[in-house]
This record gives sequence, structure tokens and C-alpha cells, in this order.
Amino acid sequence: MWNTIDNLDYEGAIYRPPSEARSIILQVTVGCSHNKCTFCTSFKDKRFRIKDQAAVVSDLKKAARLYPKNKRLFIADGDALIMPMSYWQWLMPAIREHLPWVERIGVYATGRAIRKKSADDLQWLREYRLGIIYMGVESGDPETLAYVNKESTAEQLIEAGQKVKAAGINLSVTVLLGIAPTGRSLAHSQRTGELLTAMNPDYVGVLSVIMCEGSELEKLVNQGRHHMLTSVEILMELREMLIYTELSKGLFMANHASNYLPLKVEMPQGKIQAINMLDAAINGQVHLRPESLRAL
Ligand code: SF4
Repeated sequence: MWNTIDNLDYEGAIYRPPSEARSIILQVTVGCSHNKCTFCTSFKDKRFRIKDQAAVVSDLKKAARLYPKNKRLFIADGDALIMPMSYWQWLMPAIREHLPWVERIGVYATGRAIRKKSADDLQWLREYRLGIIYMGVESGDPETLAYVNKESTAEQLIEAGQKVKAAGINLSVTVLLGIAPTGRSLAHSQRTGELLTAMNPDYVGVLSVIMCEGSELEKLVNQGRHHMLTSVEILMELREMLIYTELSKGLFMANHASNYLPLKVEMPQGKIQAINMLDAAINGQVHLRPESLRAL
């Protein structure tokens, strides 16, 4: 934990989406309310809780001094949307009071957190400038979702994503390559493409799994119960997923540092060109990001 006059008060490491790099990061919850996904160690050292209002007000006052021009704010940590509406009904007016220049607020959310919000709740949050929800979906394959210990079914995730969009809030969805149990790689790719098609999010972020020290995934690998895919197998998953993904518009991005081949596809028009690029990479005709430069 660090706390100086020149910074906001953060407990532990802070994670935010790449697109929030220039945003004010306001930590309102600590940790992740789920914290059980097999591949994730981001919040393992944190017990989930909501910060008390006095601590948040102190940060809002500091933010008003430090960031008088930032129009975007991201509410950390993982799954902050899970906070009850009673807390949101205090928080959003407080943000408006202290940082009236902020135009867009973003937050991470699990499917469960979205399910717990009514359509009216989401509409109210949007009116208070909740402009984007980042949802870690990982897969649309039921067996893969159960295998990685996600807390929602594919149907629940689709319903949650559609609810966000119906409220007029932008939806950014993250999916993960290389997490399927043995023999489910193809099903994971195809079902995930179908899930994305049903959700029709504004942004898709594709990441490739990296085995984190201390994760459940590491244990499975060490016990010989999970096979880490090769770079070519990962690219084949990505290709299949893209084939099965039909978006009316939006960005399909596989340009995160964990990926072997950076891709940013404008949907739907860029899809064919991206598939051709993936074919060339699978055939060894394109230089891939070296293993040593991959990162989460
Ligand atoms: S819901 Fe997200 S932050 Fe929480 S454990 Fe799973 S991947 Fe990690």
C-alpha cells in the first residue's frame, strides 16, 4: 500500500484495461469478488471489500487537484460493478460533485455483477456517465467455462452482455485463447465466436493465456493435466474464433502483449484480410512475437 500527497491511495497492484491508460484510476473496491478463475492471480493477495466512503472522498479531492483535465475515470479493482446500488447511489453523485469534467466512467464487471443489476439500475448508472463496462467472458464453451472456474454459464454471459448494450452502455468483452481442456480447443473457439456474435459487443479484446506463478493453471500444468498450446495452436484458435464471430460493427482486437500476432480488425469489413494474415502466420510466413516478449 502506498499513500503520498501526490497520488491517490491504492492498495496493492492496480489493473486497468489498456484503453484506460490515461484515465483517472479511482480504487473503490479492493480485489475481485469472485477470485477463483484458474488462470488468474491478479487479486490473489487481496480479500474483496468495498472501501469506506471517507477514503474514496479523500481520493476524489486529490484527483480534483491532480487531474483537472482528465475526462475519463476508471473504477478499480476487478468486478467493481458488484457493489450494491446503495453504494453506487452515493458514489456517482460524489464523482460528479468532485470531478464534474469527467465525461466517461468505466468499470470491470463479471456476468454475476451485471445479473445483479436491473435494467433500471444500469440505465441510472449510464445517466451518471457509466459509459463502458469491461466484461471478462473468456469463453463461450460450457465445458471450458466450467474448467476455468468462471462463475457464469454461456447463456448467462450472453444475457448480461445484451443487458449492458440495451442500457446504452458500451460493452468491451475479453476472451482468452489457450484455456480449453484437452480436446476442446476447437469447441472453445467456435462457441466463443458464437457467443460474441450473440452479444455483438462494441469491442472484443483477445488475450492468449500465460501461465502465472502460483495459479491453479500452473498446478494443472505441473500435474500434466493441462497442455499449454503452441504458438501455432493459439493462432489456429484465434482463426477459428474469428471465423465464427459476426459483429455488425466494432473492433476485434488481438493486439494485447500476450498475443503472438498483433491484430486489430475493424468488423465486419476487416475480417477476411485478418483471416488471410492468420493463415500466413500459421504457415510460418509472418514473424511472431517471441515468447520472451509476451506479457499479461
Ligand atoms: S473474475 Fe476476473 S479478476 Fe476475478 S478471478 Fe476471474 S479473471 Fe480474475
